Amino acid sequence: MAWFTRQKPSLTSSAEEGERRVKTEGLWLKCDACSQVVWRKAIEENFHLCPQCSHHFRIDAAGRLALLLDGPWEEFDKDLSSTDPLEFVDSRPYKQRLLEMQRATALSDAVISAAGTLERRRVNICSMELKFIGGSMGAVVGEKVTRAIERSRDQRTPLVIVSASGGARMQEGAVSLMQLAKISAALMSLDEAKVPFISVLTDPTTGGVTASFAMLGDLNIAEPGALIGFAGPRVIEQTIRQKLPEGFQRSEFLLEHGFLDDVVPRPRLKGYIACALDFFCGRL
Ligand SMILES: [Zn+2]
Repeated sequence: MAWFTRQKPSLTSSAEEGERRVKTEGLWLKCDACSQVVWRKAIEENFHLCPQCSHHFRIDAAGRLALLLDGPWEEFDKDLSSTDPLEFVDSRPYKQRLLEMQRATALSDAVISAAGTLERRRVNICSMELKFIGGSMGAVVGEKVTRAIERSRDQRTPLVIVSASGGARMQEGAVSLMQLAKISAALMSLDEAKVPFISVLTDPTTGGVTASFAMLGDLNIAEPGALIGFAGPRVIEQTIRQKLPEGFQRSEFLLEHGFLDDVVPRPRLKGYIACALDFFCGRL
């Protein structure tokens, strides 16, 4: 008999061990900024902020609407989904990727277009979902955002767009790039109708979304520490062959250099937007 072979069963059988693991899974999170291990519920109850260092964790599109709107919202163009115009295949077919994403997020594409009240002020609001193919903008996101802009213009209701996106959707090629022009043209008509548009940039807002509507707000505000840019820092460094400064492409840096109007912590965001709407609508 080997000396070190365990003869008796261990105190917890493997089945119990498995059960215990499932129950405790995901209760704790490690903060990306301060490395503190934090209770998930403590984060959720704190606007999804780290209680230790106020690092802003990413939140999904529906969670964002729940934070900004007073109560239930009306959703528009819920079933609009991509037709895969290029029949694109990368590591797997785009059609299959879309189906998997729709199942995982219960959304038809990477944005929720809604209407509701924000501190009792009626708003149209688009909230982007980063988990849906990186929050990328294809024909569906472009169309939903454009329709929201046109609805805002026709109803004279202020528009808020909360961006969280990696940029244009490469699986839709030039079709996704056309959305930049389409949305920008619609925003021009909103501007001519003198209906306010507030753009909220969250972590991350990059590529074609930054290059179109995210930077075209009457007010462009961002959450602290959000990555905002067009190309990624590595691409820029390799192109200009220079080391980029500390904090480059983060909200605070962009505010300092005149790219943003303000950086607003998440707990103050709703009140800030309400106050800005009052200013634009002449209630102040
Ligand atoms: Zn932290």
